[in-house]
Amino acid sequence: TVKWGLIGASTIARQFVINAIRAQPNSEITAVMSSSPERAAAYAKENGIALAVSTLDALLGSDVDAVYISTTNELHLEQALAAIRAGKHVLCEKPLALTSADAHTMVAAAKAAGLVLGTNHHLRNAGSHRAMREAIAGGRIGKPIAARVFHSVYLPENLQGWRITRPEAGGGVVLDITVHDADTLRFVLGDDPLEVSAFTQAAGMASGGLEDGAMCIWRFKSGVIAQSHEGFTTKFAGTGFEVHGSEGSLIAKDVMTQRPIGSVLLRTAKGEEELSFDREDLYVRALRQFHAAIAGEGQPSATGEDGVWSLTSAEAALQSAKSGKSVAIDPKL
Ligand code: NDP
Repeated sequence: TVKWGLIGASTIARQFVINAIRAQPNSEITAVMSSSPERAAAYAKENGIALAVSTLDALLGSDVDAVYISTTNELHLEQALAAIRAGKHVLCEKPLALTSADAHTMVAAAKAAGLVLGTNHHLRNAGSHRAMREAIAGGRIGKPIAARVFHSVYLPENLQGWRITRPEAGGGVVLDITVHDADTLRFVLGDDPLEVSAFTQAAGMASGGLEDGAMCIWRFKSGVIAQSHEGFTTKFAGTGFEVHGSEGSLIAKDVMTQRPIGSVLLRTAKGEEELSFDREDLYVRALRQFHAAIAGEGQPSATGEDGVWSLTSAEAALQSAKSGKSVAIDPKL
C-alpha cells in the first residue's frame, strides 16, 4: 500500500486528486497538512482523512510514503525538499517552483535520494492529447509545420485569490497556464522549444503587477512555430489545440481542460476523420503512472525534468514580455 500525505488543503486536491489517489488499488490517504489547524481539521473531516496536522514536520513524521504538494507556488520548493529529505516520493503541482533554478534543485535532490518526483501536468494524461501525439508520431499529418493553442478561460470566482493578487505566491497566468501549454506542446509535438516571444496584459482582473493574459510565439527544434494564448478573463472563448502539417491538420476542441472531454479532428486530402480516444479521468491516469513509477515501472506521466522544461519556458515568456525581445529556452538538463 502507498500511504499518501497531502501537503496543502487545496481546491485541486478536493476536486480531483483525492479521488484519483483513492481510485488506485493499494493506496490510502493517511494525513493532510494545512497551515491552519482549523482548516486542516475541517478539510480532513470533509474528505474522510484520519490525520489533520498543521506543520510539515508532523506530516512528514507520520506514516506516509508519498506526498502530494498543492500549496501556493512559493511553498513547493521548501516542502518538496523537506519531503525528499524525509524519504518520501513527491508528486508536486506545477509550477514546480518560482524559478527554474529552484526546480533544478528539487530534481537533483530527488535523484540523489532515489525517490520519484513528478510534476502534475495533467494534460499529458488526456486521451485527446495522446491521440494527437500518436497521430503526429505516426506521420498522419506529414511533417508538422505549425501549432496553435487556445487556452484562455475565465478564472472561476472561487479561485480569484492568490493567482490574481499575490506575485510573491507565484500568481499570474503565465505560471498558472502557460506552463501547461509549454508542456503540452512539447508532449504532443515530441519536440522541444528553443525560444519564445511573448506579450502579456492586465485586462482588469489581476492586480499587483500580475498578468491575466498572455500570447506567446514559440520556435521548436524541428522548425515548428507555435502560438499559445493564455488568459483568466475571457468568458466565452472556448479552448483548442491545433497542429498543422504538410499532409494534414489536427484540430482539437475543448481539450485544454481538466476533464476527459473534447474532440480531435484529422483533416487530410482524404477528408475528415474524428479520432477516437479514451475518456479516462486525467488525474486517475496520472496517479496510476506515479504508482507504477514508485514500483520501479516507468516514469510519472510528467517527470521533474518535464517540470523544469515547462517552468524554464514560462520564465522565458515572462522575461520576453518584460524585455520586448525573444528569449532562448535552455533548461540546462
Ligand atoms: P487553492 O487556493 O485552493 O489552495 C492553495 C492554498 O491556499 C491551500 O494550500 C491553502 O493553504 C490555502 N487556502 C485554500 N482555501 C483557503 C481558504 N478558504 N482560506 C484560506 N486559505 C485557503 O489553490 P488551487 O487548488 O487552485 O492550487 C493549488 C496548486 O495546484 C497551485 O500550485 C496550482 O498551480 C496547482 N493547480 C494545478 C492544477 C492542475 O490541474 N494541474 C489545477 C489547479 C491548481 P493551507 O494548505 O495552508 O490550508
